[in-house]
Order: sequence, then structure tokens, then C-alpha cells
Amino acid sequence: MGNNDIQDKMFAEFMDFSIYDKALKLGHNYLTEAMDRHVFPQDEAITNLENFNEPFPKSSSSSNVVLDLLKKYGEPATLPHIGGRYFGFVLGSVVPASLSAKVMSAFWDQCPAMEVLSPIGSILETVVEDWLKEIFSLPEESVVGYVSGTSSAIFCGLAAARYKILRKQGWDVNNKGLFNAPKIRVVAGRQAHSTVIKAVSLLGLGKDSIEWVDVDSQGRVVPESIPDLDESTILLLQAGNVNSGSFDDFDKICLKARGQGAWIHIDGAFGLWAQASDKLKYLSKGCGNADSWSVDCHKTLNTPYDSGVVICRDKEALIDALHMSGAYIVLGKGRDGMFYTPEMSRRARIFEIWSALKFLGKQGLNQMVTGFHERALQFKKELAEAGFDIVNNVVFNQVLVRCETDELTLKTLENIQKLRVCWCGGSKWEDRDVIRLSICSWVTTEKDVSLSVKSFIEARDLAEAKA
Ligand SMILES: *Cc1c(COP(=O)(O)O)cnc(C)c1O
Repeated sequence: MGNNDIQDKMFAEFMDFSIYDKALKLGHNYLTEAMDRHVFPQDEAITNLENFNEPFPKSSSSSNVVLDLLKKYGEPATLPHIGGRYFGFVLGSVVPASLSAKVMSAFWDQCPAMEVLSPIGSILETVVEDWLKEIFSLPEESVVGYVSGTSSAIFCGLAAARYKILRKQGWDVNNKGLFNAPKIRVVAGRQAHSTVIKAVSLLGLGKDSIEWVDVDSQGRVVPESIPDLDESTILLLQAGNVNSGSFDDFDKICLKARGQGAWIHIDGAFGLWAQASDKLKYLSKGCGNADSWSVDCHKTLNTPYDSGVVICRDKEALIDALHMSGAYIVLGKGRDGMFYTPEMSRRARIFEIWSALKFLGKQGLNQMVTGFHERALQFKKELAEAGFDIVNNVVFNQVLVRCETDELTLKTLENIQKLRVCWCGGSKWEDRDVIRLSICSWVTTEKDVSLSVKSFIEARDLAEAKA
């Protein structure tokens, strides 16, 4: 059939349903196990990863062999944060409709760079743009770019800011670059996320030039400490401090900063989704008065990785900052996604975002997001009853936990991780060690929380016994 051996082989396997069937079955088995599996790979599984260390193979394999290897040595070494007792970082599970849409659309392999490349990608990106603006209560004129995550979304938002601020001063940064350009001021809270700082340096604005603003005991920018802003300033705020989960006071800060002409970017990686919760939306009140926003779908919305959005009030600034042209570009009547992202080609993550939102609807999303907060409050209550200190105000989905001494906190954390009933990471809060819990998986139930609290107690008992 084909013109050479490898083409023959691929034709045969491409249409061989048993391979995809096997992949699905293995995936499904994994899901079933992951609900209850120890939350961190066993040491042996990590050691077995050595099996992947081989020189680039001379000859071809079969898809079956490839799958079997991944199953045998890869799967045991995965982190099942798709289950309900993984509380490290800010991860989350996957909404079932989103996972199934990912599987099906994997066969489509769409590239939504241009409408002409994927009419379905283009229309869904347009539809979800409106939905997101509604969910987050953002200005009608805003546009959305679908990127790999918040790091990239922040970069895009700040690129738009940089372009616009310099443009207003008659400086086209695309043509002239930054050498000899008018200065751009960057003002940020002392607890801005490290990816925000990274974007500042990637864009050539210079970390050293950041004017730091003091924060309060929850990590929120103190409004009175913000210096006078002007038209050459980018103000960086956040919805959801990565440790405490706290929100800057947008209501108090944004209107004033806008009045002074500053460009405001809100990093709302996981926190902006509070807007979808009737109970929690007070936290992000006033966020619509910013200029750009960065949000993850792979965190709070529980879509598969990698998935984030940049939202920008000024369409022209975003498009011009991420400009792209070429004689072979075919402009569509509808949306050409590449104008809103740094990439030209990218995967159509929109199918997963649309599916999650279509499945959940407004009420489902409200319940899911509010549920994260309820589970966080349960942690706070049960851990406090067990004699742990809760260090932060649990306003959203983050809980910071401490024992009497840093030493005991660290040993307890080490034991929690070894017990593998649940997984949490550590962090520092006000110069002391803390155990950090992030609840953002729809799978997590009250029972998961209680089991995890038991594990905390056991871990502390073990630490105390050894001391
Ligand atoms: C996770 C996170 C980021 C980075 O997002 P990625 O999707 O990992 O790139 C930025 N800011 C905050 C507050 C976060 O929680």
C-alpha cells in the first residue's frame, strides 16, 4: 500500500482500532485506580524509570510496544493528582466531559491558528471568549488568547502593556526595540508570583526596576503603600496569593490606578474563578477595572494540562504586541486565533475548555468552585481541632498549616509525604515553615479531607515519637 516499510506499518496501525482501544482501556483502568492510589509514586517506580534510558533506537517498534512501555514503567511513576487527595502546588483533576473531549479531539488534531485551519476551533474560541467575559464580569470589548498556562498569559498581558505604554509616547517597540526607549515603571506587591517577575524580565523591563509595594499579613498589597502611578506604569495585582489564597483589594485599588493612567494586570491564575462562585465573588470585586488578566483553566476549572487564557481589554494592543504576518497567511471572516497568542501553531485546547464549561454550566461551576472553599474550611476546622495552627485566613482554597516548631512542621510534612495518603508541599510564611494545602480538584470529598487530616495526625505522632 505505502511507498516504504515504515509507511506500510503506519498505515496498518493508523486504522487498527485495537491500539486506540487498548489506550482507552489502560487509561480507564488508571482512572479507577487513581481515585484511591497512593498519591506519590513508590521508590521502586522511580528507580524503574531507568528503563527509559536508552540510545535512540535504530529500528522501529510497534505502537503496542510503545504503549506497553509507557504503561509498565511510566504509569507507576505518575502523580495521580487526577484523584481527590493531592493538595500540592495548585493542580486539580479533570472534568469528565473535558477529558473525553480531549480524547476524541486528539483524533482531529486541529490547529486553531487561523479560521481556515480549524473552523470549529475558531467558533468555539469565539463562543468561550464571551462566556469567560461573563463568568469573570470583564469588559465587553476584551479579547481572549488561549495559551499554555498563566506564565504565558502574564507574558502576553504585559507585552500588550509594554506595547501600549510606549506607543502612547510615540515609540513603536516592535520596530525600535527597547534600547533608548522611554522608561516603563513596574509596580508590584512583594508577594507577586514568581512567574509575574519572570515575565517582567523576559520582556526586558528588568526585575531590578520593580517598585515593590508592601503587603499585609495575608500577602495583600496595602493600597495606601502604592506610589503615585502614571501613564508609563504597569501595576501588577493578584487574585489568589499562591500561599494564602488572598486577593488584592481591586475595588479600592483599580479605579484609582486607572484614573492615574496606569495599565493594571491581574494575575488570577486560580483565584479569578472566585468570580464564578456566588459566595466567593466578593473576593474579586472590582477586578473588571483592570486592563489585562491571566487565568489558568488547568487549575480551578479542572481542564487537562496545558491550558490558560490571557484576557485583554485593549484588542489592538494585544494583537499588535503579538503581531504576526506573512504572505501565506489566510485571514478568516471569523476569529484567527494566532493573533491573540505568541505561537502560530498550537493545539486546540479550546475543545477541553468549551467542554468543561458546557458540561458544568453556571450552576455547576458555582458549585464546584464553592466546593473547593468548603473543603478548605473543613480542613481548617478539623486540623485546628487536632491541634494544628492554621496560619492564614481561609478565604478561598488555600490552607497554611503549622506545628509548634518549624522542626516539627518539617518532620510532619516529611512523614505526610512518606505515608502517601495525601500529598502537600511546604512553603514559608512570615519566615516560618508551613505545610501548604491547595484544594482545587472536583474529586475531593469530605471523606478525602477527613482521611487526610488523619494522615496529618499520624505523621505528627510519628515525628513526635522520634524526637
Ligand atoms: C500557577 C500560578 C501561576 C503560573 O501558572 P502556570 O499555569 O503554571 O504557568 C502564576 N500565578 C499564580 C498565582 C499561580 O498560582
